Amino acid sequence: MPESKYKCIFCGSSKRLTKEHILPKWLRNYLPVNDHRSRHVVSSLDGVGKRGKLERPGTMFSQTLRIVCADCNNGWMSLLQLKAKPILSKLIKNEWPLLSQNDQAIMSTWAAMTTCVAEFSDQHTATIPPDHRSFIFQTKSVPQDWFVWIGRIGKESTPLFTHINHFGAKIRDSLEGNEVDFAFQSTCFTIGHLLIMTMTSTPSGLFNEDSLKIEQLFEIFPIFPFKSIVVHMPDKVYDEDGFYEISCVFARMLGLSTFRFDKNGNYIKLT
Ligand SMILES: [Zn+2]
Repeated sequence: MPESKYKCIFCGSSKRLTKEHILPKWLRNYLPVNDHRSRHVVSSLDGVGKRGKLERPGTMFSQTLRIVCADCNNGWMSLLQLKAKPILSKLIKNEWPLLSQNDQAIMSTWAAMTTCVAEFSDQHTATIPPDHRSFIFQTKSVPQDWFVWIGRIGKESTPLFTHINHFGAKIRDSLEGNEVDFAFQSTCFTIGHLLIMTMTSTPSGLFNEDSLKIEQLFEIFPIFPFKSIVVHMPDKVYDEDGFYEISCVFARMLGLSTFRFDKNGNYIKLT
């Protein structure tokens, strides 16, 4: 078999790369297909935000990226999709089952894997270090320096369109008296009634302990690092404005430019 010049983003193999769906196809059956539009914003340190490559009329579910090998795609990634399915399929329908520590571990690993795949749709803003992806591949768990939250979005009966708002930047700052380049990314995405926010800053120390607790600002649950079993559904249901508030929170703390789509689908700068 000919070797590809590209390597699998998870295991590093240069064997045949296959097309991986950004979001698994089975999710499509749980969401309304009518009038669907995918929104994708990517931003980086240079203050240039733009429409991401996943921005399109119609659903994001049919889109694929050729970045993972067949062994990963059909092996552990597919197994993780299967494990996440019973939990995800409830959350996206606005049903919140009791989320045990194990459920939260599965959901946060799924969120980290999906963040890594989605990030590669735009390599200009891809900042997750390669050793984080190999950690996910090797341990099927979330690396240190990651944070994952979940919340509710959309009207009672109408889910929000599929959105992704991604920031990725190398931030030079001081840490214990030394200049350090932090690899920062935050990705917020919505699927049906579920909002997922992931954030990574490596090494740790870019944000202080208090600013990491965004669950004190928004009604969302931290699921990684594990804090407590989620026993109830959050009362607050966020709308599109809320999505941008949550998705831009860390970028704002860092003084990065933020962008959004307005109600008419125009692309505008926020800060
Ligand atoms: Zn692989």
